[in-house]
Amino acid sequence: MHTKDSYPMLSVEAARERILDAVAPLEVEEIPILEALGRVLAEDVRAEANVPPHDNSAMDGYAVRISDLESSPDRHPRLRVIGELPAGQVWPGQVAAGEALRIMTGAPAPAGADSVVRFEDTQSDGQWVVIQRIPSRGANVRYAGEDIRQGQIVLHQGQPVRPQEIGMLASMGHERVRVHRRPRVTVLATGDEVIAIDAPLAPGKIRNINSYSNAAQITEAGGEPLVLEIAPDQEDSLAQRLQRALDLGADMIVTSGGVSVGDFDLVKHVLSTEGNIDFWWVNMKPGKPMAFGTIGGIPLLALPGNPVAAMISFMLFGRPAVRKMLGYTSWDIPTVEARLREAISRKDGRRHYLRVRLMETDEGLEAELTGDQGSGILMSMVAADGLAVIPEDRHHLEAGTTVQVLLFD
Ligand code: AMP
Ligand code: MG
Repeated sequence: MHTKDSYPMLSVEAARERILDAVAPLEVEEIPILEALGRVLAEDVRAEANVPPHDNSAMDGYAVRISDLESSPDRHPRLRVIGELPAGQVWPGQVAAGEALRIMTGAPAPAGADSVVRFEDTQSDGQWVVIQRIPSRGANVRYAGEDIRQGQIVLHQGQPVRPQEIGMLASMGHERVRVHRRPRVTVLATGDEVIAIDAPLAPGKIRNINSYSNAAQITEAGGEPLVLEIAPDQEDSLAQRLQRALDLGADMIVTSGGVSVGDFDLVKHVLSTEGNIDFWWVNMKPGKPMAFGTIGGIPLLALPGNPVAAMISFMLFGRPAVRKMLGYTSWDIPTVEARLREAISRKDGRRHYLRVRLMETDEGLEAELTGDQGSGILMSMVAADGLAVIPEDRHHLEAGTTVQVLLFD
């Protein structure tokens, strides 16, 4: 029998370390670049050509030889216009002494010319152009390879793919890219009282919240959630659902509920008989009853049943695991500092995560509790911008105390 006492209470950091130790970046797959947003590169990407590929004009203007202008006795020298070059075309001839070529932004610099005078600095009748401001040599010319040199590594293995990385891949002509695949995470709600979203509410029953909020968190973290049918509080149904998760090829299993000390809290029991438990209990609130272990070699994160606790625990423990499997090396939650609007007393020695709304004031950010902090009060999450972290050893915080706030987005 697994008693509460046979498992030490872990700190949030220790629990996270143990979970992270149990997961690793997943295999590499090659996918179209537009699907790679949010993934992590599994290869270096080199430039196969210079960017830009040729010297070109950075402005609409006239391509000129600067020596013509500098040697001219006129303050406003005059050049003969030999034609016009739109972007996408190459001028077949040269710009000779005394000549200028009308040129559009992006068009390749013609032979002979070394600078571009902006339209704004000229006056022209079509045949001749008068240069009203003589630019410096090389003005308004973008040089071949100025952005990227051929052969240079432009994107490194391990780099997260954002829209700009996708743009870079496009500029290199890569339609596909190698990245770590997304983890498949099965989501399993447990409890005799928990009913499906489309079932009529009946006395004693509540709707399944966790499967949905946890699945959305998995998606947000970059994983692929697979929602299983709710497991009633019976060992064999639970074992059967977990087997189904393994059959589906889960990279991680997330359960909710059934992990406390009640008679029907079977998750940790099944985990210990069918697999093994690494830890149970984290020194935090909400979310103290949480277990972690493996089943069939697959990590299983057993979240508490209360909807707020299930979400906060996923944020602190599930999300880092998903990100590590995706190939990320950082999973810190974006954090701001804010001053508490009200005094807070918590004397249980646990780390508290309080749901707060953030307000911009003249003295900086302020954090206000979003009402009842019960671990089942989902409204406290809906109204919140983030979680204020109250350290284990801080028993009383005066109003105005600065705290860290983990942002939801
Ligand atoms: P448990 O840890 O299983 O005792 O669950 C703690 C509390 O969370 C109980 O009040 C459950 O009814 C509730 N709960 C458990 N699972 C869910 C779920 N999937 N959706 C909504 N509430 C749940
Ligand atoms: Mg339960």
